[in-house]
Amino acid sequence: MKISSTRVGIADNNFGRKMNVSPYFITANTALDEAVLQALAYLPTEHLSKLVDPAFFQKLADRDFMRLATWLAQKSYAEGGCPIGGVIIDNRTRQIRGKGHNTLGQENDSTTHGETAALRDAGRVARLRGEGPVDFRPMTMFTTLTPCAVCCAQICHRCHFEKVVIGDITNAPSTAPALRAGGIQNVEILEDARAIALYREYSQKRPDLHFLDWGGHQKLAEAQAAGLVPSTLADHKPKP
Ligand SMILES: [Zn+2]
Repeated sequence: MKISSTRVGIADNNFGRKMNVSPYFITANTALDEAVLQALAYLPTEHLSKLVDPAFFQKLADRDFMRLATWLAQKSYAEGGCPIGGVIIDNRTRQIRGKGHNTLGQENDSTTHGETAALRDAGRVARLRGEGPVDFRPMTMFTTLTPCAVCCAQICHRCHFEKVVIGDITNAPSTAPALRAGGIQNVEILEDARAIALYREYSQKRPDLHFLDWGGHQKLAEAQAAGLVPSTLADHKPKP
């Protein structure tokens, strides 16, 4: 990933010559493109406030945050894991409060979905800042795939998000009705072509992991009995 010095507004201080230089690596004038979204996705959340001008975040539309979440899904897929990413923003400032991706395979932990990884990151960053428990009520959760029942419960009954944006209801039945029934007033379907393509590729190449992710060994056994998982994929261990 390359960010040109001119695009991000970094200027040479030229041996003390008085210059009006932004203290931020990504300034309000930085072009909004895929390279910058990728950088924002992969930089540790706690460093964003030092590196990114708060005005820059005002330029990001919901579709841009979904692209950012898709970069996180892409990272998980590159690691041999399930390609689902999550991003949490504060609706008042549009700044990122937490982000992450599914690590069910990588960590062998059935609780780390894209959404729960973002929740955990938000709590971790708040703790680093000396803040208390995060109040998610004025925030939006972006998720590249429609949330599972576990994540719906967190979003609705524990966190009470103001808004949820879903990037893919093509590869799984939409859970938007469940979110609305759970009290989320604003649920937006914003399908992202890359997120859909990524999850489709994953579920086709590793249907064993797909069924294991969604319903554990019970679902996997049912899928195997129905002939939905080729016997050549009997070993469902993700690559290290
Ligand atoms: Zn989930």
